[in-house]
Amino acid sequence: MPELPELEALRDYLAPRLEGKRIAKVWTSPKLSFLLRTPPDEFARQLTGGTFERSWRRGKFLVFDINGQHLVINPMLGGRLQWTAAAEKVAAATVFRLTLEGGEELRFLDTVKMGRVYWVPPGALPTIPGWAELGPDALSVSEGEFTQRIRRHPGELKNLLRNQAFIAGVGNAYSDEILHEAGLLPLRKRTTLKVEDINRLHAATGKVLRSAIEAIKAQPKYEPHKQDRSFMAVHGKAKEKCPRCGHRISELTARGEATDFCRGCQH
Ligand SMILES: [Zn+2]
Repeated sequence: MPELPELEALRDYLAPRLEGKRIAKVWTSPKLSFLLRTPPDEFARQLTGGTFERSWRRGKFLVFDINGQHLVINPMLGGRLQWTAAAEKVAAATVFRLTLEGGEELRFLDTVKMGRVYWVPPGALPTIPGWAELGPDALSVSEGEFTQRIRRHPGELKNLLRNQAFIAGVGNAYSDEILHEAGLLPLRKRTTLKVEDINRLHAATGKVLRSAIEAIKAQPKYEPHKQDRSFMAVHGKAKEKCPRCGHRISELTARGEATDFCRGCQH
C-alpha cells in the first residue's frame, strides 16, 4: 500500500512530466471503471483536451489540477500510477489511461480493485470520503501541533500514527519505521509517554518520511508503479537483525497486517 513517501516521490516524478501538458485522449476500462466515482463517459469527455496545471498531495491522496478541476486519486491497498509510452502493452489491471499530446501516457492500475478516483469541481474536495477528517500532513506537522493533537488520542502508538485524523499520510509500514526510529514499542499506550518521548516521536516521523522519500527517489531503476521498500529498517524484515542493535526483529500479525519491531531497542 503506497504511503506518504511513495506518493510524494511519485508526485515529484510526475509533476515536471505532466504540468503544462494537454490530454489528447482518455480511455477507461469497461471492467474496472466502477473504481471511478464519475460515470466513465463523463470522465472521458471532461478530461479530453484538458491541461495538467498542478500536481499536489494531501496525506494519501494525490491531486492533479486539470482545467481548474481536481482529479483525485486515493490508491488505497493496490492502486499504482504508471508513466509510459502510449504504445506500451496495457496491463489487465489498468483502470484508465490519459494519453498526452506527444504520445506519453499516465495510467492508473489497481490489482485489488480498492482504489478510488474522483473528478470534482473546485470547492468540492471536502465532499470526498475521508478528506474533511484529514489531520495536518505528517511531513510538515510542527512539534507544537503534534504535541497538542496527540493529547486527544489515548490509544496504542501504532494505531495513533495510522489515524489519518491525527496526522495524514502514515500507514502500516511507515508507522513501524517511525516507532523503531523513536525507540518506542508499537503497542505502547500514548498516555505513558513523557514530553521528551512525544518530541522524539515527532522528530522520528519527519526524519523517517524525509529519508524514505530520498531513498525512493535515489533508486536507480525507479518506476512509479513498482514499490521497492528494501531500504526499510524493520518493516518486512521479521527474523532479520535489527540494524541498530543486532537483536532479532519480532513480528505480530493482526487482520492480515504485519507489525514489525525490535524488542532490543524499542521500549
Ligand atoms: Zn534494535
